[in-house]
Amino acid sequence: MGGREERAQCTAVGEADRDHTLGPDRVEDGPDIVDPILEGWEDGRVEVIGEPSPAAVETNHPPQRAEAPENAGQHRLLPLVLEVGDPRPRDEEIHWPVSVDLVGDVGSVGGAGVSSLGRHGRQCAAWRSHRSRIWRPASRPPDGELMIDFSLTDAQREVQRTARAFAEREILPRIQQMDANAEYDRGLYEKMGAEGLLGLPIPEQYGGAGMDYIAFALLCEEMERADTAFRVILSVHTGLNSLTLLQWGSEEQKQRYLVPQARGEKLATFGLTEPGVGSDAAKLATTARRDGDRYILNGSKIWISLGDTADHVLVFASVDRSKGHRGITAFIVERSFPGFSSESLHGKLGVRAGNTGILTFGDCEVPAANRVGEEGEGFTIAMSAIDQGRYTVAAGSVGLAQACLDASVKYAHERQAFGSEIGQHQLVKQMIARMYAGIEAGRLLVFKAGAKKNRGERNTRETGLAKWFCTDHAVASALDAIQIHGAYGYSNEYPVERYLRNSKGSVIYEGTSQIHTLMQADYLLGYRRDKPLRMPQLPFEGEM
Ligand SMILES: Cc1cc2nc3c(=O)[nH]c(=O)nc-3n(C[C@H](O)[C@H](O)[C@H](O)COP(=O)(O)OP(=O)(O)OC[C@H]3O[C@@H](n4cnc5c(N)ncnc54)[C@H](O)[C@@H]3O)c2cc1C
Repeated sequence: MGGREERAQCTAVGEADRDHTLGPDRVEDGPDIVDPILEGWEDGRVEVIGEPSPAAVETNHPPQRAEAPENAGQHRLLPLVLEVGDPRPRDEEIHWPVSVDLVGDVGSVGGAGVSSLGRHGRQCAAWRSHRSRIWRPASRPPDGELMIDFSLTDAQREVQRTARAFAEREILPRIQQMDANAEYDRGLYEKMGAEGLLGLPIPEQYGGAGMDYIAFALLCEEMERADTAFRVILSVHTGLNSLTLLQWGSEEQKQRYLVPQARGEKLATFGLTEPGVGSDAAKLATTARRDGDRYILNGSKIWISLGDTADHVLVFASVDRSKGHRGITAFIVERSFPGFSSESLHGKLGVRAGNTGILTFGDCEVPAANRVGEEGEGFTIAMSAIDQGRYTVAAGSVGLAQACLDASVKYAHERQAFGSEIGQHQLVKQMIARMYAGIEAGRLLVFKAGAKKNRGERNTRETGLAKWFCTDHAVASALDAIQIHGAYGYSNEYPVERYLRNSKGSVIYEGTSQIHTLMQADYLLGYRRDKPLRMPQLPFEGEM
């Protein structure tokens, strides 16, 4: 049977059901067992995932028959995914070798002995028992990329629950007022620390909770769902500073700085941006001069989150400006060091419940023991720190878009126009559906980057893509959420105007959307390649 005929048969299925994906996923409402098989076909989701693979083989089998897996090699096969929803933690995506002819006659699945298509419980097991014989086209990516488990572990769910409970208890009742009055309350951040939220991905031996990067993403998502300021602390304190000390710091630095940070006893941040440079950070002007067993820092940093309150700052300064980015060096600066001062920035568009500051170094004395990494290694350290920071921003932006969706769905049911609730109007539906699609896609990008982080693999490309996509989507979602709320969305009676103001910072910090666009294109065009680091990011070593 030729390829054209095969495509024709796929189309026949598509015509019958309007699409190759049949029926919505109704697992939650459905009966426990789907039987007979025709019902399973209608209710389950059966999706054509591609053209016949070159790896497929010819069949002389009579048409209208499905093939048992053990016969797979004897017949021409079309890759189908029969996705059987299973409410248990490990949802199955089952790749089943099926004769192309089956496409025209689904009922014959039963005739081939596949009478166990079920959505719940015991009948799924019959499918699993065949998994060792799953047929996989040669053109598929390697197993590491293909085997995706979307289920959360109990520990990850617990983080999600704890974070959500914290947000509902401590943040949401006060956030409207804190935002309106630009109130920064360090006590709330200390409460996060007391709950173990500020050291979540830091190993227990350094005072953290020893959780993996997916759990960390869930925490960021829940915090930003409440308010961006409470994700920002996870970005600067945990992502940009603490995880960077874990990767690049000496043992002494970890004991002295990382441990109290992970326990939430000290707050930390990250100082790279200067009045004269942001995106082009390699041109920073702050200098560091070696003087015996100390360095003398001069210059200033601006737009530093928690800048006027943090106890420790990871600061970047040049030991030799003639060397460009190869002169940049990283230092841990304590607020108490001579020559250090800070002030708060006022009049910000968003993140008004958080502190943002200006740091000044006037002959600031920093012990040589506080240099992180080697002289001239600071730019590399800063960029690897940003891989962590961007991850938190991406995950947080999923939470912000989720907050937009939650508020919009609620309002769409409450508000009436033209004789029905506004959710009944198609263009409102479009905005809601668009929000959801981006949230789901963004979360997958975050989880992909998180999976690489858990394995200790370089993830600049994946993390950057997630950050770019999720932050742009958060802005778009906030705009749509305001639109759905009409004039009420334009006032702070509803939270959506805060979501918009907060979302806008995320497309500026940790790489503007323009910089991310260029980076992704450069990867594709072969202009950019990530080399191994002298100090690679540590893999997650706990149990998943
Ligand atoms: C709320 C907030 C919190 C922040 N927190 C921190 C922090 O904790 N620590 C820290 O170090 N920094 C922080 N920043 C600073 C942030 O990282 C910088 O604002 C960011 O890097 C962009 O730099 P810039 O603002 O100087 O913009 P610029 O680099 O001056 O860019 C201005 C515009 O030009 C565009 N542009 C620049 N170069 C290119 C190019 N090559 N191609 C195309 N377009 C280009 C940009 O996309 C942007 O639209 C924060 C900023 C904000 C708003």
